[in-house]
Amino acid sequence: MVQRFQQYIDGGFEDAREHFDSVDPSTGDVWARMPAASAEDVDRAVRAAHRALNDPAWANLTASARGKLLYRLADLVAQHAPRLAELETQDTGKIIRETRAQIGYVAEYYRYYAGVADKIQGAWLPVDKPDMEVTLRREPVGVVAGIVPWNSQLFLSAVKVGPALAAGCTIVLKASEDGPAPLLEFARLVHEAGFPKGVVNIVTGFGNDCGRTLTSHPLVSKIAFTGGPETARHVVRNSAENLAAMSLELGGKSPVLVFDDADLDSTCNALVAGIFAATGQSCVAGSRLVVQRGIHDALVERLVAKAQAIRIGNPQDMATEMGPLATRRQLEHIERVLRASVEAGGRVVAGGKQPDGVSKGNYFMPTIVDCPNAQVPSVMEELFGPVLSVVTFDTEADAIALANDTRYGLASGVFTRDLTRAHRLTRALRAGIVWVNTYRAVSPIVPFGGYGLSGLGREGGLEAVLDYTRTKSVWIRTSDEPIADPFVMR
Ligand code: NDP
Repeated sequence: MVQRFQQYIDGGFEDAREHFDSVDPSTGDVWARMPAASAEDVDRAVRAAHRALNDPAWANLTASARGKLLYRLADLVAQHAPRLAELETQDTGKIIRETRAQIGYVAEYYRYYAGVADKIQGAWLPVDKPDMEVTLRREPVGVVAGIVPWNSQLFLSAVKVGPALAAGCTIVLKASEDGPAPLLEFARLVHEAGFPKGVVNIVTGFGNDCGRTLTSHPLVSKIAFTGGPETARHVVRNSAENLAAMSLELGGKSPVLVFDDADLDSTCNALVAGIFAATGQSCVAGSRLVVQRGIHDALVERLVAKAQAIRIGNPQDMATEMGPLATRRQLEHIERVLRASVEAGGRVVAGGKQPDGVSKGNYFMPTIVDCPNAQVPSVMEELFGPVLSVVTFDTEADAIALANDTRYGLASGVFTRDLTRAHRLTRALRAGIVWVNTYRAVSPIVPFGGYGLSGLGREGGLEAVLDYTRTKSVWIRTSDEPIADPFVMR
């Protein structure tokens, strides 16, 4: 039975004029029909968000009342986490073990921003003019356009919806055309939580049409985008139309540096978590292993054994450790880059192909490529799949040079028992996140974002909320004396 989903505009659930099929990545079968928002639908959604911004039902709510609505939403997300997880697994192939845990934690993000709502403060400024009182108000920036990619749509939208609503903004979220089911289902929870109509709108449709209309819309004041750098360039160009403020969370080619004094067992588990969890479809995937020569063979041997023991299978099964890739397109891209990597001298020491005997679904084996240098394509390019490329270093300086030899700079990892070295490296690595003796840890309290091609701005943490506000300086003259010389700036 093919399920049907609806978009959420101005407080109502509706069909779009056109629909598209959603494919279950574990079988290749169509399982749902999704609305394809037209430019006209997106325009209505933005106009609804703009109306809601000044509607007393939202604009006159106290910050604490906004916080209460967000707490209610957090409770609903926690309560419905099993259903949301099941949908995300069905629509993206991400294993149920991960989606259940992640969506349970998404509720914590909403709780965090619920608590932040009434802590966004203005200021009184000690201005250098005795007859002036100057205060700084913090006001919502306006209508936010939130755009998320297919992996972790609920998680990546929580870091946009949470701070936007805490700050008093309204939002139009565009789900990815791949795997939008959990976000469209989430709309029902927004509705049940009781947000006034138009405050949150959720559409899904194609990037070029729906995404472009949204990011160039004259009534949008801020764009919060997560996706790849190439799409980000389109978004930046689109925003020339509305000059919206922008945060960009983009891809990565994150290095994990392993020194010869590291605890190999623990490091191995962290490396597996970094690259094979979520089938490597994670922006922070630790896809470049930079290993010291003395332990190269021992570490690679252990990693190969671990990779070969990973249970690949039905993502809805709690015992499965690696599911399929989300799309066929993604699988073909990985195969292409792997072929080029082998031609450039890379040696596939684990995986490198679809599992034997698999006739359906986008399954790909956990793959390790041992590379003679950093010019091998799999070392340079973001693959967004379960492929770990290994390069070797001799000295700490070599390790840093290899790690920083990328236009990306999202995450990085360091494994060593030497504390002073760990401190040196946290300074030297050019990345928005450095994990030491751990990998792939996140929290709503900690900012998240990258350097270089990995993006602009940060999500998560207190400061990110301020990006959803703008200041207004209010000058009040306290003197009863008439204004003296009108030709001199005061
Ligand atoms: P894309 O960049 O292809 O798509 C991201 C979103 O942008 C989708 O919703 C897409 O819609 C939309 N889009 C496409 N074209 C346009 C356009 N012209 N204008 C506006 N929006 C548009 O990324 P993927 O979906 O392939 O996701 C993978 C990428 O996301 C990887 O590079 C990954 O590293 C990155 N990512 C970054 C994260 C971070 O926080 N730093 C976290 C997770 C992923 P549609 O899908 O309909 O085409």
